[in-house]
Amino acid sequence: MNIILLGAPGAGKGTQASKIAGKYKLLHISTGDIFRANIKGGTEIGKIAKSYIDAGKLVPDSVTCDIVKDRLTWDDARHGYMLDGFPRNLFQAQELDKFAHIDLCLNIDVEEALLMDRICGRRVCSCGESYHVSTLNGATTCAKCGKELYQRADDNPETVKARLDTYNTQTAPLIDYYKAQGKLAVVKSGEGSPDLVFEQICKVLGH
Ligand code: ADP
Ligand code: ZN
Repeated sequence: MNIILLGAPGAGKGTQASKIAGKYKLLHISTGDIFRANIKGGTEIGKIAKSYIDAGKLVPDSVTCDIVKDRLTWDDARHGYMLDGFPRNLFQAQELDKFAHIDLCLNIDVEEALLMDRICGRRVCSCGESYHVSTLNGATTCAKCGKELYQRADDNPETVKARLDTYNTQTAPLIDYYKAQGKLAVVKSGEGSPDLVFEQICKVLGH
């Protein structure tokens, strides 16, 4: 099974992705994580990506599509994968249809009013976990692995505004794209806990 996780920044794609990967044994491919690893490693791709990410804009399609196309040829992608953060515009979706077979697009639907606080209050760990300051009770380390938590460089109000705008204009049209293909499933997140969202996802994916 190959699936796409769709949703605005802050919708909880990353959180749900680790839960889904664990239960359904799907490979988790996050283009955002790939870019951040490249920035950290000082690669050419990282150098290109950084200015776009800092501005809340999309990294050029040519760069992004090539990365995903290549990643899907690796051996570990043969038994099913979950794309998190890709595709992010219609061009990427059309390209993806040329080199992959997608079974389902899962849209995590969240009220826009909740997103700014969620993202700006987010603290992340290099192990992939993320938290919200409101539930950390002052803790500064990861409950899962003990490493120091940090705030993503693009999780500041100004960049978040740009990311939400990018989402609304470029990514949201994908909802209709996958609906037209009969592949769309929607889960409402609301203010519900990650576990409640995951329960809905399990209903869609089957137990
Ligand atoms: P979020 O969903 O919280 O915004 P991501 O980690 O998915 O975070 O993405 C962070 C940034 O990486 C995006 O704002 C964008 O600049 C870049 N990026 C990630 N995926 C893509 C993509 N498919 N196409 C273009 N840029 C991307
Ligand atoms: Zn951790």
